Amino acid sequence: MNSHEEEIKALNRTLELLSRQLKMLDERYRAITETVVDAIISINEEGRIIFCNPATKKIFGYEDEIIGSNITTLMPERYRKVHQNGMNRYLNTGIPKIIGSTVEVVGVKKDGTEFPIELSLSAWRTDERCYFTGIIRDITERKQMEHNLIEANKKLEELSIRDSLTNVYNRRYAYQLLESEFNRAKRHKTPLSCLLIDADHFKKINDQYGHLFGDKALVNFASILQKMTRTTDIVSRFGGEEFLVILPDIDMKGAADFAERLRETISKQKIEDKEKNICAVLTISIGTSSFTENTANITELIHQADIALYEAKRLGRDSVCCYKPPLK
Ligand code: GH3
Ligand code: MG
Ligand code: MG
Repeated sequence: MNSHEEEIKALNRTLELLSRQLKMLDERYRAITETVVDAIISINEEGRIIFCNPATKKIFGYEDEIIGSNITTLMPERYRKVHQNGMNRYLNTGIPKIIGSTVEVVGVKKDGTEFPIELSLSAWRTDERCYFTGIIRDITERKQMEHNLIEANKKLEELSIRDSLTNVYNRRYAYQLLESEFNRAKRHKTPLSCLLIDADHFKKINDQYGHLFGDKALVNFASILQKMTRTTDIVSRFGGEEFLVILPDIDMKGAADFAERLRETISKQKIEDKEKNICAVLTISIGTSSFTENTANITELIHQADIALYEAKRLGRDSVCCYKPPLK
């Protein structure tokens, strides 16, 4: 064998080796792209799909017809312009925006259904041409789970601030809100009043008609309170048959007027249980207190309402008393 023949033989061996390696790479590449659950899509500079794996068809609901289509087919109309601008910018300047990173965007299936996707995009060059490959994951389930978690958290938060029987705010949360209203009143020198309300002889209602009827009376009372207050007012169950209402921007006179209207409304309201043939009337006693520049803190404000409430009870119940700070 002469040297020329040997050279050809050696080249042939190299070629054979290279083609075996290429085949292996190709097989490995195919194994990955065909088994992976994520969609893998490659597009050219015009945005035409030049390759997609089987998962793409499954995720987007297409058959092979998707090859050659523009990638914009897989995105909602409203995002197409942004996509085109982003692609043009990259092709003109080489400055990537989402290339090399993972973003959450929206995909659209063949039947028009939109769904959330996670897109990891990369760019590559061959023969002076630029190509893009995207790995797309359908994150519908993850998004649904995230949504459920957020909703559950919201519900939990709501539950933690509300009284389970009457659904008005609980004492702990009322204190929190009162604290910020108190600070606001102090800062802006605006009025702020409190109503401490206690159902009269409630023990008797329970004893006479049963605890369940008592519960019903409390629920009924709380719902009237909600209806008669503004959205900026804060209605809360202070404990047992006692309620605290916080009235921002309401002075002592306003609080007294409101308390009187409330007392009257409740005393005229019948609480009925038709099944058990019960019809009762609930009366309430109310103590009011209002913020002044001498009010030290919310504990003092509530304490003053409590003093007034005690006075209302002493006066015979079904009445309103307003705490009047001593003249200094
Ligand atoms: P007063 O006019 O002095 O306030 O008399 P009262 O009977 O309302 O006051 P007391 O403190 O002696 O009794 C309060 C009653 O309220 C006793 C308690 O069982 C009842 N009560 C507290 N919470 C609830 C509740 O959630 N449901 C029911 N049905 N009753 C409750
Ligand atoms: Mg009480
Ligand atoms: Mg009571």
